[in-house]
Amino acid sequence: MLQKPYLMVPGPTAVPERVLQAMHRPVINHRGPQYEALFRDVSDRLKTVFKTKQDVLTYPSAGTGMMEAAVVNILSPGDHVLVVSIGVFGDRFAEIAAKFGAVVEKLDFPWGEAADPQVLAERLAGDKEGRIKAVFLTHNETSTGVTNDVRALAAACKGHPALVVVDAVSSLGAVDLAMDEWGLDVVITGAQKALMLPPGLGFMALSERAWAACAQSTMPKFYWDAQAVKKALAKGQNPYTPPVSLLFGLAEALRLIEEEGLDNIFARHRLLATALRAGVRAMGLGLLADDKVASPGVTAVLPPAGIEAKKIQKTMRERFGITLAGGQKKLENQIFRIGHLGYVAETDILVTLATLEMTLTLLGHKVELGAGVRAAQIVILEG
Ligand code: PLP
Repeated sequence: MLQKPYLMVPGPTAVPERVLQAMHRPVINHRGPQYEALFRDVSDRLKTVFKTKQDVLTYPSAGTGMMEAAVVNILSPGDHVLVVSIGVFGDRFAEIAAKFGAVVEKLDFPWGEAADPQVLAERLAGDKEGRIKAVFLTHNETSTGVTNDVRALAAACKGHPALVVVDAVSSLGAVDLAMDEWGLDVVITGAQKALMLPPGLGFMALSERAWAACAQSTMPKFYWDAQAVKKALAKGQNPYTPPVSLLFGLAEALRLIEEEGLDNIFARHRLLATALRAGVRAMGLGLLADDKVASPGVTAVLPPAGIEAKKIQKTMRERFGITLAGGQKKLENQIFRIGHLGYVAETDILVTLATLEMTLTLLGHKVELGAGVRAAQIVILEG
């Protein structure tokens, strides 16, 4: 049977035709005027997405590179940091900071739940000497499908000198984040999620306080050196060869974002997540995250008793061409994840639910065909 591929993972996500076409051009000199104009333009427009007046730095990088860039630019070996973790990517921040010689304290919350701002506020209140240099937060924990209330968590840090660092890799451009208004000091993200680009670009913005910390930081860095990137950006350049084709794509992706409007994009993600969750529930499946903290961009689903999550993914992929994501680390084979991040429409949700119903049926789980699709249709029609 002919299959149409659907990439329903939370990154890399489907890239719109317009973005693909925009990249399909001859490469230009990255030290010439044409590139300079392009780079200045996209760097400026990225500020709107970050909701900041600060420079947004662009790196040729995966999201993990940007996590490392955040760590090495603001810290020195021996600095105390507090890493708030609700899953795999919070843990990764702790691992990176420790590797570079920071003294890491973790504030762990159960996987599938959000971080409690009150607990964070209490821990910081206990740090009377102000030893904690930075608090690391994950906006959207992709491994569990939970979105932290970063605004409330940042507010819980008020009154303490720690810098607030936010991993917004799977949220920026899908979930509201207001860097300046919420008092965030470092925000990082990647291209391949809500920004609708292929993988390969990372972005980081720093507050004035964070720039002051950069000037003091002694952690080793060359490629990630934010001050060098900022200096080059002032001339419309990068300190090394940028992925020019991806920057053509970025210009077009930003145009798509501007045309739809950030608020509409956030509302679309919320609606599609609600529709998907209603559909999954109507099939009799459970969800890892509570509605109150559920991510607008990725949903972690519990397989029915007796059917392995991996088996569901395999059948979806092999029989219908739909790629879902698995569980990571301790959630491996305990959940499967459906990405609905970036270039995702109502129809993608309906197709995924319809094929999931058929997959469950093929695997012997009793589902009323159409029940999940119907539940989602109702949510979508109600808007
Ligand atoms: N942080 C979050 C929240 C993520 O979802 C991811 C990737 O899924 C990363 C960081 C790491 O990004 P990358 O895989 O591009 O290194």
